[in-house]
Amino acid sequence: MHFPPLRYDCIQCGKSCGHWRVLVEEEARLRLEQTELAEQARKLGYQPFVACNDGFHRLGFRPEDDKCVFLRSDVLCAVHAELGAAAKPRACRQFPFFLVETPDGPFAGLSFRCTAVKQQSGRPMEVHRPQLEELRATGQYPRVGDGPIAFTPGHFLDWPGYLSLESFARASLVDPWRMLAVPARAASQAPWESTLREEWTALPTPQHNELLHAFERNLLAGLVGALEGRDLAEMQAGASTLQGGEAWQPPRARRPVSLAQLPQARTPDYRYLEHLLFRKYLLLGNSVLSRLAALYLAEKVLRFYSLAMDDQEQALDIVEGEMLSHADSLEPYFAAAEDGLLRHL
Ligand code: SF4
Repeated sequence: MHFPPLRYDCIQCGKSCGHWRVLVEEEARLRLEQTELAEQARKLGYQPFVACNDGFHRLGFRPEDDKCVFLRSDVLCAVHAELGAAAKPRACRQFPFFLVETPDGPFAGLSFRCTAVKQQSGRPMEVHRPQLEELRATGQYPRVGDGPIAFTPGHFLDWPGYLSLESFARASLVDPWRMLAVPARAASQAPWESTLREEWTALPTPQHNELLHAFERNLLAGLVGALEGRDLAEMQAGASTLQGGEAWQPPRARRPVSLAQLPQARTPDYRYLEHLLFRKYLLLGNSVLSRLAALYLAEKVLRFYSLAMDDQEQALDIVEGEMLSHADSLEPYFAAAEDGLLRHL
C-alpha cells in the first residue's frame, strides 16, 4: 500500500459528525437500532436513522446543532466510545481515508475536509495500515489504470503514460496554466502518440488567449454561483455579477470579491493539490483532462474564497468538501472547461 507523507489522528473536533448526511449500511442500522444508544436518542425526541428518497438510511441529526444524534457533548462518538470503533457505520470508519486500487497497488489518501489532516496533527499515515487493510478487505474501492485511460474522450494513455503526465502535473502545480495547457495542446494537435513520447517538461507553454480568458471568467463565475446559490435566482445573480467584472459577496462570506482580485489572494495550499494527484483524483472523473481543468479551477476558487472568507481553512473546506471530493454535481463545469480548451486553445 502506498502512503502519502501526511499525518493524521482524530482530534475529536466533531466537525465531520455534522454537516453531512451520513449513509448507514443496512447491517449497521439493524444492529444499532437494537442498542440502548438508539433508545436514548429516541427518548430525547430524535430519530436515530432517517429513511431517504433514494431508499437508503442516513444517520439522524439534531436539528438544533446539525450534529449526529450519536455525538456526545464531550465531542466523542457514543457508538465508538461505548460499542467500539468496529460498531460504527462504514462511512464513519472510512472518513477521512480514501482508497484507490491501481496497477502499482493501492494508494491511501486523506480528505482535507478533516481538521486534523489540514493541521497535520497526528501520527504518520502508515500507522493506519491495519485499519485501511481491514476496510480494503471488506469493501470495494475504485480500480483505475488497468486498460486504456481516457485523457479526452478521443485520446488515451496507458498506465506508464499516465504516471509521466501525473509527474508533469505535480511539477507544474505552481504554474497551473502550464499544467493544464501543455497536455491540452498536445491533445488538440495531432499526432497525440508522438507527443506522448516527448518529455512533457520540454514542451512550451501555449498562450492564454483572450477567448480563453473570457471563457474561464464565465466558467469560474458560474462555478462560484453554483457553490453558493441556494436557489436558481441567487445562483444566477452571483454568477452574472462576477461575469460582469464586479465584486460579489457570497452569502456565507465576509467581504465582496471580484475575479480580478484573485492574484492578490494568499498562495493556495499546494500541498493539498499535490495530494489530490497522489490519491489519483485525475483518474476518477470522465477524463484526465476534465480533472486537470478541475484542479486548475480549484486553484482559482481557493483564491476566491480565501479572500472572501478571509480564512484559508474555510476556503479549503469548500473546495474539498463541495467542489472536488465529496460532491459530483459540478462535473459538467469540468467537462465544459475541457471542451472549451480543446476548441479554443
Ligand atoms: S456515528 Fe459517530 S462517527 Fe459517525 S457521524 Fe455519528 S458521532 Fe460521528
